[in-house]
Amino acid sequence: MAKVYNWQLGREMDYRFDNGNAKWQFAAVFNTNRCIACQTCTMACKTTWTFSPGQELMWWNNVETKPYGGYPQNWDVKVLDLQEKANPGGQVWDRSVPLTTRAPYGTFDGKTVFETADGLTKMVTGYTPTQEEWKAPNIHEDSATKFPKDGVQLPVHDGWFFYLQRICNHCTYPACLAACPRNAIYKREEDGIVLIDQGRCRGYRKCVDACPYKKSMYRPNTRTSEKCIGCFPRVEGSDPLTEGLPMETRCMTACIGKIRLQGLAKVDDAGLWVEDPTNPLYFLVHVEKVALPLYPQFGTQPNVYYIPPRWVPRDYLKQMFGPGVDHAIERYSNPSRELLAVLQLFRASQTIVFSFKIEKGPKIQELSLNGVVHEIYDDVVVGYDSQGREVVRVGVEEKVFERPQQFTMNTI
Ligand code: SF4
Ligand code: SF4
Ligand code: SF4
Repeated sequence: MAKVYNWQLGREMDYRFDNGNAKWQFAAVFNTNRCIACQTCTMACKTTWTFSPGQELMWWNNVETKPYGGYPQNWDVKVLDLQEKANPGGQVWDRSVPLTTRAPYGTFDGKTVFETADGLTKMVTGYTPTQEEWKAPNIHEDSATKFPKDGVQLPVHDGWFFYLQRICNHCTYPACLAACPRNAIYKREEDGIVLIDQGRCRGYRKCVDACPYKKSMYRPNTRTSEKCIGCFPRVEGSDPLTEGLPMETRCMTACIGKIRLQGLAKVDDAGLWVEDPTNPLYFLVHVEKVALPLYPQFGTQPNVYYIPPRWVPRDYLKQMFGPGVDHAIERYSNPSRELLAVLQLFRASQTIVFSFKIEKGPKIQELSLNGVVHEIYDDVVVGYDSQGREVVRVGVEEKVFERPQQFTMNTI
């Protein structure tokens, strides 16, 4: 086992390899508050990549209803249970340390899925789901914890559910990769996308067992495992549609609720994101700290970040997104002028936005929320592609366009 630095845990940890870091890292932010579970993302992926025989139950992208839903069923509860059994009472965070970019959420004092494994018979603590558990990508859809007679209100709803959008996290320290005895899984240096070499895979399913997010899946007719490929032809700009420019993936660009923003973060030799507050991902994750990793305590350093739902009990959210939840919800509920502008970039462009600039506009509104006065400005956020060319320009205030009179009559 090598020692690697996991900044989401604020400490070094054991990992099978010492070269987990790419030069650029595929990453995304999902805003759970806006998702309507239309599953357009799910179908965009399915119709592009997993429509063939043997892939019937394979959903690289799925949106599940928490707390009861899961694909495969109960995946997170099972992994949390295994970890708790291996380290009873010890899966806790220390928040007394200085919160820096090397430890933005504090230090995790518990054990990761690599550290609870013996490193001989198993590289990673995990389990292999049953066939039954893979059957439904959104089982228990829209099931709330209860239906309160007296209605609900913030900060915590009495009865609740929310949608969790899930793809492979293209982890910095992938559990699937660490577990593969054939070394068939690799992480690309140019964008951090994690792929399974179909020629090397022999279908041992060690990756399926190891991935704590259960995003590596077995295909019975080819006897190999498959997973989300991060739509790499789009991200690297080799798909003809991209015209050579890095483009967001299918599941991102199809998103109806405009909840997804994807891009690439530059990574330094120490494995940290290079400081760049003009990169929208860096801004959301490290400057505003409004977007958090999913189950960071598993230790894979996942690269999909979530703006947590505002109405869900905080203990549940802290178990899922770590101890940064209170801060993230506070930032989202009382957004800074800059954050309000950057949030407009979600689904504004298919081309990946590498940097942004905010052009200040006039004050358009003043409103009071929870006793706090908010001033709203019609600022314009401008997004730039990998070459520094402008690809999008969008204002905070949504414009109203009136259809000209001659087009308002139904003449058919
Ligand atoms: S989410 Fe799972 S399948 Fe994806 S890179 Fe991480 S460990 Fe591997
Ligand atoms: S990134 Fe591409 S391959 Fe991965 S879930 Fe989204 S659409 Fe599917
Ligand atoms: S397309 Fe967007 S809004 Fe619809 S389910 Fe997917 S993430 Fe949610």
